[in-house]
Amino acid sequence: MSEVNYGFDTLKVRAGYNPKDHNYAVSVPIYQTASYELGDTERFERLRSFSELGFLYTRIGNPTVAVLEQRVAALDGASAAIAVASGMAAITYTLLNIAEGGGRILTTHQLYGGTVDNFKKLFPKFGISIDKVNNPDDIEEFRRGIREDTKAIYIESISNPNAIVADLEAIALAAHERNIPLIVDNTFATPYLLNPLKYGADIVVYSATKAINGHGNVIAGLIVEGSNFDWGNGKFPQFTESHYLLRDSSGRERSFLDAFPTSPFTGRIRMNYLAYFGAVLGPFDAYLVLLGLETISERIQKQVSNTDKIIKYLEEEEHVLWIKHPSTKSSPYRALAEKYLPKGAGAAFSFGIKGTESQINKFLNSVRLFSYQANVGDARSLIINPPKVTHGELQSDAQKLADITPENIRLSIGLEDPEDLIADLRQAFEKAYS
Ligand SMILES: *Cc1c(COP(=O)(O)O)cnc(C)c1O
Repeated sequence: MSEVNYGFDTLKVRAGYNPKDHNYAVSVPIYQTASYELGDTERFERLRSFSELGFLYTRIGNPTVAVLEQRVAALDGASAAIAVASGMAAITYTLLNIAEGGGRILTTHQLYGGTVDNFKKLFPKFGISIDKVNNPDDIEEFRRGIREDTKAIYIESISNPNAIVADLEAIALAAHERNIPLIVDNTFATPYLLNPLKYGADIVVYSATKAINGHGNVIAGLIVEGSNFDWGNGKFPQFTESHYLLRDSSGRERSFLDAFPTSPFTGRIRMNYLAYFGAVLGPFDAYLVLLGLETISERIQKQVSNTDKIIKYLEEEEHVLWIKHPSTKSSPYRALAEKYLPKGAGAAFSFGIKGTESQINKFLNSVRLFSYQANVGDARSLIINPPKVTHGELQSDAQKLADITPENIRLSIGLEDPEDLIADLRQAFEKAYS
């Protein structure tokens, strides 16, 4: 299928898949196989040298997984994508692929809790230092924070849990002035609400566990690459040095840029990190993500509309101290959200609740409909207390820097009737303060 002319909703159910190539199956088949017949030695030679594209072993590629990769690449206007076993694998492989062997990553304090802790505990052990800007809205601070050996800027387009919106174009410009890429975790926005590559991002990562899949039944990650960044600019020799593994059919050694001219970044992740660190997405899980993706627009539209109604209710609720969502009247991110997120600023956000720890606990324990669990983007509405759970591994100083205060409650709004969700919150407030 030629994908250039189709709109998002067509691509989400069709991109990357041609039934004629799969026994005319309408639903994408699950290729539940570890390995593939090589045919004969000549065919193997063609596969090995990438002169024929095909599958060898599911750790480095699988036809079901490939449909997901091509579909998400189409939805994000990307040149290539690679699926991995989790959002954490997507983030880790991406940053190792850029900074392996040493260097620095410039980021913010406002990140998913697992990312913050990973950056603190593991990356330094791999020789990679993490620098953070204190004010994620201050582009000059990003500029000043880039050092000689900084290899990338890493941000979340809509941050977890406080839904701050990044000024992607400005941050991309700051990165490109210094010949480094901008990497964006676009999990909260999804490709439906925002395509970061359009605004200058070079690599986009997703936890597909969340709204891309949308049904809370899989752990999955995706890495998406654009075509504009020059990996041959001298700062990233790992893409330009020649490898025996990449030799062509005449035996000439090639670099990742030579062997994968339109997908050097994800190609290198596939041949190195997926092949040898091995966090591969299984074909059944890829199938579940594909199934979820078929309704991403419809789900997110309804979730955004439910979110608007719930925010309006919370803005009137006397026990609410503040609400952090770009659509609130007082949000400092309204203008950025209008620019980058015209279809809505997502369905996950936080609010502060007045009261003692025991009142907060009583509130959490009194909801009947909202599920108390650490996930977002599900078809069901979810509630969690980030300071204790999603960001519970952060010590109090790190929580303060990430603006995770003790009264912070995060909601992820699902597909239920909005009246039922509002009634549920109302009765929980009543119980907590009775
Ligand atoms: C959940 C999440 C992750 C981690 O993804 P997993 O699929 O759970 O490994 C990364 N970034 C953000 C913003 C998330 O919400």
